[in-house]
Amino acid sequence: MLFLETSKVSQHEGVCSLREDLTCAICCDLFREPVMLACLHHFCKPCITQYWRGTPGPVSCPQCRKEFSSKHFQTNYLVTAMVEKIRATTSDAHIKNVEKKLREELESHCLRKEEFINSVRRDKDTMDTIKRVGAELQAHIRGEFRALHQILQDEEACVLEQLRKEQEEELGKVQRHLQAAEWAVRELEDNISVLQQTSAATENTLLTEVTSQLIVFVKLSILRVPSNIFSSKYMAPLQYITWRKMFNSLKPGLSPLTFDVDTAHPSIHVSRDKTVAVEWNATFPYTDHSKRFLQCVNILASQGFQSGQHYWEVEVGSKPKWDLGVASEAIDRRTKIKLTPESGYWTLRMRNGNECSAGTQPWTRLELGAPPQRVGVYLDSDKRRVSFYNADDMSLLYSFSNGPRGRVFPFFSPCIRNQETHYKKNYIRLFGFEL
Ligand SMILES: [Zn+2]
Ligand SMILES: [Zn+2]
Repeated sequence: MLFLETSKVSQHEGVCSLREDLTCAICCDLFREPVMLACLHHFCKPCITQYWRGTPGPVSCPQCRKEFSSKHFQTNYLVTAMVEKIRATTSDAHIKNVEKKLREELESHCLRKEEFINSVRRDKDTMDTIKRVGAELQAHIRGEFRALHQILQDEEACVLEQLRKEQEEELGKVQRHLQAAEWAVRELEDNISVLQQTSAATENTLLTEVTSQLIVFVKLSILRVPSNIFSSKYMAPLQYITWRKMFNSLKPGLSPLTFDVDTAHPSIHVSRDKTVAVEWNATFPYTDHSKRFLQCVNILASQGFQSGQHYWEVEVGSKPKWDLGVASEAIDRRTKIKLTPESGYWTLRMRNGNECSAGTQPWTRLELGAPPQRVGVYLDSDKRRVSFYNADDMSLLYSFSNGPRGRVFPFFSPCIRNQETHYKKNYIRLFGFEL
């Protein structure tokens, strides 16, 4: 920039000095029809002609005073061309044009500067957002792990307290026995002393008198150290036992779901324990219910969620075609509707055994290594987020950030079975750990 300014200044200076060089010393203006004298000085042809007019004899150069015998001069075409150029570049129109271009250039620079300032502001805002969201997530992660640590610490304290009580009890028992034994030793020593004194002092003393002085002491049982001082529960697989207890304390833990038979499409058969749903070609007899799907082969779970976080798992095995996710309570069950968030469905969909997509509009195809056999669904009602996981390794498959408002139900569709798929492979099972 500095270089540019410097070069512009020197360019301007150059034009000024050139203009001076191309100025006639007589009329002090740019040469008109410039001519050169033998002394190499230039003048306008009309100026020098006028200057010499009326001079009969030898003439002189008005600049250096050199004398010439005749009024001779020569047209200099090179200087003529240069004068024309200088005249053109210093004309009002040309200057206005240059000024206009400069103004335009200036405006364009200002606009570009404004754009870059906005870009800098946006970048800084984005950085602030990244830092803020990062800090929030950090706090969230710390909170989640703190809760886990708390469960472990509480459990550890509880087990250690049990151990302390048992130890205290065992020590108390031995302490009491010890005291009794020590008391017995002292009494025995007293008896021994009485017997020894009696035996030394007189041989006439009746045995009965002596024995009456002896103290009758309690018969003390011999306390044996038991092979298991403490109960054997401390030698159990502590980590596994604690993990099982911990599993039941997880928030959210695994929601044990059951199918709501009243919502099932008439061609869906539900197992007696309401955890398995199978699509059949036939239609089962059904009771009319406002909750029932009559057009699409769908079914909901009985458990609805409106707030908080919930997680459940669905076993789909190698079933080639299924839909699952969550559905708003308000969905229309009597007509065929596209499964999109706009119509109240947040779903993951499988087709042809390996084509997995998120139920967006249009579908978002997911590139997965292997199709999931078991799908985890995480509903965060407060943050309006619905996420799907491959429950075998808990890798994230897809996450809707525009989740539902209001009450939703876990949603499933075993879909209509292809002829080649055996009905035994066509089930959807609600997965629940029995710990
Ligand atoms: Zn002149
Ligand atoms: Zn001269």
